[in-house]
Amino acid sequence: MLSFDPNSLSLPAGHYINGAFRPGPAEIELFRASDGAAYAGCAIADVATVDDAVEAASAALKTSGWGEVAPRERRNLLCRWADLIEAESELLAALECVGSTRLISQATRMDIAVTAEQIRFFAEFADKEGGMVAPTGSETMGMVVDEPYGVVAAITPWNFPISMAGWKLGPALAAGNAVVIKPSELTPFSTLLLAELAVRAGLPSGLLNVVTGDGSITGNALTGHARIAKVSFTGSTGAGRAIMGNIARHGVKPMTLELGGKSPQLVFADADLAMAATAIAGSILFNAGQACVAGARVIVDQRVADELTELLKLAMSGVRPGPTWDDQTTFSPIVSARQLERIEGLVSSAVAAGAEALIGGAAFDRAGYFFQPTLLTSVPRANPILSEEVFGPVLTLETFEDEDEALALADHEIYGLAAGIFTKDLSRALRVMRKLESGTVWINRYSRSRDHILPTGGYKQSGFGKDLGREVYHANRRQKSVLIQL
Ligand code: NAD
Repeated sequence: MLSFDPNSLSLPAGHYINGAFRPGPAEIELFRASDGAAYAGCAIADVATVDDAVEAASAALKTSGWGEVAPRERRNLLCRWADLIEAESELLAALECVGSTRLISQATRMDIAVTAEQIRFFAEFADKEGGMVAPTGSETMGMVVDEPYGVVAAITPWNFPISMAGWKLGPALAAGNAVVIKPSELTPFSTLLLAELAVRAGLPSGLLNVVTGDGSITGNALTGHARIAKVSFTGSTGAGRAIMGNIARHGVKPMTLELGGKSPQLVFADADLAMAATAIAGSILFNAGQACVAGARVIVDQRVADELTELLKLAMSGVRPGPTWDDQTTFSPIVSARQLERIEGLVSSAVAAGAEALIGGAAFDRAGYFFQPTLLTSVPRANPILSEEVFGPVLTLETFEDEDEALALADHEIYGLAAGIFTKDLSRALRVMRKLESGTVWINRYSRSRDHILPTGGYKQSGFGKDLGREVYHANRRQKSVLIQL
């Protein structure tokens, strides 16, 4: 039994700076996605509060020597943090789910468990990766010395709050940096506890700080701060552009941007259609389509389109919408009333323009913000629902006659985050994979695995730089070339 009482949680507004909770006024009112009830507030860190957090991080780096301690010590400490995350998984999961779209059944099994696993995974890099002796001539010796950046900023979205925090904090801390993280103003609570647990595990106070607030005040203060050496951001492409602009106005610093997507799933005539339908439906129903990699565009060979359509209708039916805190719920709410309205608007204007909703097409008639699993066909090519990120449980289905047309339909003007290919023909799978401009390609599946060595990130305006994989560890280190005359 994982269900919990959403009114039983203590949810004070505030930040976590220098190893202590710092209360702040609840300036942003928060509403539960599951029932629309106002349940808590989020404090907004102003320039001075952000400055305190960055100064605390900077001072902690100096006094603790975190970047210079034996890497094995960093590894051991981060592993103790992962142990504590597991020990507190019940409370963490409740904080994760109470106001958000994450279901308690999934948060406990996946989000929290995988976060602990990934922190251990990155902890292991601390004493294994970095530096090299260069192959120079015999009169010199050259070395590449690998060093942390200093204080890095992490900014995360609301759709997977704890997972996104883990993706950034594990590698940044393992690599010897201090971090100031800003979770989404909609979902700050699990990240605050995550930081407290790190300090309880022995992380020197100040090395990990949390400032809460929105993008325009807190986000801008953080990314523009002179002592922030690097920014790691996950969120929308629009916010990514704003961050690039803000950084450029204040100076120059490296950043990694994990941004939006509008990912295609290509189904060829020889595919195992039942398996494809299950994978496709799973990808759009998971978190009610509120995932950056949601495979929202089905592009299918016209010869099997009817058969796939029937299978998809079946695979997308029978969901159990309900509160995120009820472990019998299988289908998530939409994060906010505003986002629900946006989905309704996109779907109804597609239908008004000639699209047909084979299933769904409207909000559920119940408290909270729930949209029905929706399958749209006959969508006019220029309709925004084919190009804009809906961030809801909405699939569109288009047909192709040959591989070239499939690739042309898959190609998105600005996004290139993920793509799926379903076929039994290995040569075709690999040929198409090479031609897809996409940071991730799944073949005969459409989901991540627990292989954290595989990096994730976008092509085109879906971003640059990677989370996960060796790549994210190295993105948290900078290289110094040293040449010695012998
Ligand atoms: P968002 O861009 O509105 O906000 C993300 C975070 O950025 C929040 O913490 C927000 O407060 C902050 N922010 C917004 N404007 C900012 C600014 N100007 N400066 C600094 N910080 C700013 O996104 P969201 O609605 O929270 O999340 C959904 C989006 O995130 C979708 O577009 C989704 O595709 C994307 N996403 C991408 C990935 C990935 O790995 N590529 C993963 C998850 C979500």
